[in-house]
Amino acid sequence: MPLRIAVLPGDGIGAEVTTQAVKVIATIADCFRHEIVMREYPVGGVALKTHGTPLPEETLSACQASDAVLFGAVGSPEHDDNPPPMKPEAALVQLRLGLGTFANLRPAVMHPALIDCSPLRPECIQGADILIVRELTGGLYTSDPRGIDATPRGRRGINTMAYDEAEIERIARIAFQFARQRRKKLSSVDKANMLEVSQLWREVVTRVSADYPEVEVEHLLVDNCAMQLIRRPRDFDVILTENIFGDILSEEVAAVLGSIGLLPSASIGEGVSLYEPVHGSAPDIRGKNLANPIGAIGSVALMFRHSFHLHREADHIESAIWRVLDRGYRTPDLARDGAWVSTEEMGDLICREIRRAVEERPC
Ligand code: NAD
Repeated sequence: MPLRIAVLPGDGIGAEVTTQAVKVIATIADCFRHEIVMREYPVGGVALKTHGTPLPEETLSACQASDAVLFGAVGSPEHDDNPPPMKPEAALVQLRLGLGTFANLRPAVMHPALIDCSPLRPECIQGADILIVRELTGGLYTSDPRGIDATPRGRRGINTMAYDEAEIERIARIAFQFARQRRKKLSSVDKANMLEVSQLWREVVTRVSADYPEVEVEHLLVDNCAMQLIRRPRDFDVILTENIFGDILSEEVAAVLGSIGLLPSASIGEGVSLYEPVHGSAPDIRGKNLANPIGAIGSVALMFRHSFHLHREADHIESAIWRVLDRGYRTPDLARDGAWVSTEEMGDLICREIRRAVEERPC
């Protein structure tokens, strides 16, 4: 049976980095003789123009019928003033809910060759290897009530952070399972000193932890975690947190590692999984062939590992990324001495490196 991948490039640099990720998938398919069918579907601002909605029904049903989804990014300044359901970003929440992808895995590893790209001192950041497990379908982004009301004192904006026990328990179990396979340390991040929803979060995580006695658990307030990630990033293994805290903390981790363009992600849950770089559509650099495609290409490695269970292929992609960086190639976000390669060149370098390694060690 061929592997069917729904490809949703989206807006801005989402489309540019997805093109490179697609090239890598085609290279792997060719090198390992896999039959892979990739089909593109509109999403975000692109879909608003062609279909009048950020997530056309055809796109959602194609994703639900695929073996995996490759996603670029959505968002475009021309739609910034649209009402919330008509913003390109509305597609993100609808897609996550439509696929039931409640767990977002964001691995963040400090590559030794990029140590000078981090704003932190080398002895502080060297060897950092963090997995952020972010809850993706609940919390502030999806809970009701929400909206803007008219009141006698003027308009009032409302959003709600709500989690039920089952939602907390299922994401906690995912995080504990990953922690068990890693360095067996889990940092659960909340705001339990101020929020009832966080008090419940902490209580449920503590209860679930009894089933994973080999995993050491710490509870951190989100503001303290933001500080500790800068002070002692190497001490973190798995970070478990809710939706908006995870959104913000993972951008901090990306900056600590050198660039947001490096970070991949996998969104897993009840059915088909979705793979996307952590970054957005970056309107400031779109169309200039400047975007770093490594986050998108790393997301393809996660796809091969988690959705297709093709670990050797995933390893080849990740090793190729590391070797290209080892040889000194940098996109502009990482370049320190003025020399850089374009988005497309970085994609080509990684594809060539995969081919070279496979030819050297044929299966
Ligand atoms: P952003 O991640 O798009 O960009 C932040 C900064 O990082 C920019 O300076 C950008 O140039 C840089 N950057 C991002 N990705 C890069 C890459 N691969 N290589 C090099 N530099 C990179 O965040 P933003 O500017 O806050 O948001 C822009 C748009 O993206 C908004 O419409 C936002 O809603 C949307 N967004 C979408 C997603 C998503 O689709 N998953 C995620 C975040 C933001």
